[in-house]
Parts: sequence; structure tokens; C-alpha cells
Amino acid sequence: MEPILQVRDLRTSFFTSGGEVQAVRGVSFDVEKGKTLGIVGESGSGKSVTSLSILKLLGATGRISSGSIKLDGEELTTKSKKEMRAVRGGRVAMIFQDPMTSLNPLLPMGDQVGEMIWAHDKRLDKKERMEKVVELFRLVRIPEPEKRLKSFPHEFSGGMRQRVMIAMALACRPELLIADEPTTALDVSIQDQILKLMRSLQREMGMSIMFITHDLGVVAELCDRVAVMYGGMIMEEADILDIFQRPRHPYTMGLLASIPDMNMDKRKQLQPIPGSPPDMIHPPKGCPFAPRCPYAMGICLEEMPPYAQTGENSRSMCWLLHSDCPAEGNPFRQGKEALA
Ligand code: SF4
Repeated sequence: MEPILQVRDLRTSFFTSGGEVQAVRGVSFDVEKGKTLGIVGESGSGKSVTSLSILKLLGATGRISSGSIKLDGEELTTKSKKEMRAVRGGRVAMIFQDPMTSLNPLLPMGDQVGEMIWAHDKRLDKKERMEKVVELFRLVRIPEPEKRLKSFPHEFSGGMRQRVMIAMALACRPELLIADEPTTALDVSIQDQILKLMRSLQREMGMSIMFITHDLGVVAELCDRVAVMYGGMIMEEADILDIFQRPRHPYTMGLLASIPDMNMDKRKQLQPIPGSPPDMIHPPKGCPFAPRCPYAMGICLEEMPPYAQTGENSRSMCWLLHSDCPAEGNPFRQGKEALA
């Protein structure tokens, strides 16, 4: 099946007084129709810039320097600002971490969602728009939707506000929903409700989702496939079960080790990966993860590892997986299934 989104060798930079920040360095992936792709990584990995590049929301300093982004076969990188406005909120919608930054605190919720509907269909009168808003509130499981039309953002809980944002995003029945850390600011139980809601809406509407998060645990709840980003590049990409059962990249393993285990001794502290992300103004010439990788070898500092095919539908960017990697100290060559 033709993917809804096809990104090829995308490079995006920000031009600052300190120099060119190479935020995304040659990223390629597909989002299949009706499926969810998770993009996972720490802050500064390039995951959010990748999603903002798709919608061309890079601000005055950001620029796509090369690559291709196709939405259902149609190139987006060459579209004008006006054409992109039609794509945003129409065929592609986006929701963010903090709904308060996207909501107007002085306008009732019904009017805000109604405005979104009006922006895309000017034939509807106010009464018809409000009927559509009630329909959308019902769709995102907001209780007593008729009564909530006149409520203001501060009268909603964080979880309810995020439901309103999802309702706004769904107002135009997008083909692709980009969700950038939509549950990060919420309590775990509310987070779980929003993920369940997104999953059932996806089933009902058949849309595709690109889900940006720093949390592999959240990805497990929702995604069919996952791309792990670090230093502006995809380190590993695989189907969801594969990545949990057979991670091949040391960075993915580090992320997996930082997911809390229900059976874990509560006194034991989770171990974040020591070290900090690379300087993206002067990115390293070799593997960006090398300074933090427990398996780093000489070649890792000198040369960028090419992708290795690690399964029918998976790839990983690590020298350990290549046949010309020295056998000494290589856990894969010692017959172990995983490094950890
Ligand atoms: Fe570690 Fe080298 Fe693999 Fe990078 S290429 S993840 S530094 S072993």
C-alpha cells in the first residue's frame, strides 16, 4: 500500500548567531495509511523539528536545506505558504504538548472549535457549526458536550483540554495527525485515557498518526512502528514488537532500560543514559552516540556507520552490526542475541 507520508533524506537547519544548527541530518521514513509511526528520542534529537518541517512551521530562522516530503505522493517542500496553510488543519493536523498555548483563554471552547470548522467550511452558519462541535466533543468523549460549549479553557482539566485539542485537529477529518508529546504534561492515568482515545479514534476514522515522544513506554501503547532518533538522525527503525523484543542499537537499549518495570524494586533508581546530546552546530563526523556508547570503538569516532538491515522490515545504524566490524569486543559476534 502507498504510504500517506514519505520523507526522504530530510535535512533541516536553524541559522542562529552562534552558527548553523543542523537539527535534522538526512532522515528518511514512511507513515503507512491507517497506521501509527512513533518517533522517539531525547530532547534535541531532531524529532520535533522533523514534524515541524513536514508542516513548514520552522519560523524565521529554520530552513529545509534538502530532501523530499510527500503527502500521498504530493511534494510538500515546494509548496507556497498559502498552499501549506490549506494542508495544515486540512489534510494534516497537529496537536502539541501544552493545549493552553494553543487555546485562547478568553474564548469559550465551543467558539474556538467552531472557528476551526468555519476556517475550512464557510457555508455553515453558527447553529450548524455548534452542532458539529457537539458531535466532535462527543467523538472525543467529553461528557455533556452541549453544556461544555460555553466553558472557558480554565474550566477544563488538562486531560479535557487535550481532548478539545484533539477535537479541533479532527474537525477537518485529516488524513494524517501529527501528535507532538500530547500526553507528556498529563498524569499517568489521564495519559492512558488519551492514548486509548487516540487509538479508538484512529480505528473509527482510519487516519494515520505520527506520534512524537521521548517515552518508549508510550510508544508501546499506540504505535505499529517506531523510529528512534538521536543527533538529528534515525538510529534504528523497526516494527513495535521487534524493537521491544530484539533491539539492535545501543541507544535503543539505553532507552528501553529507562522504562519503569512494574516488578522493579521501588528503591532502585532508573538509570538515565549518562552524558549529553551532541553539539548540533559542530556535529561529530562519526556516530553521534559514540561519546555515550558503552561499546564505542575507534571506527565509531571516525566514520558514520551505514544502516544495517536487521530484519525483513528493520534497520539500525551501528558499526557493531556490520561484517567489517572487528570481532573483538563485539557482543553480536560472541553469539549473544542482544547487547544488554
Ligand atoms: Fe556505539 Fe559505535 Fe554502534 Fe555508535 S556505531 S552505537 S558508538 S557501537
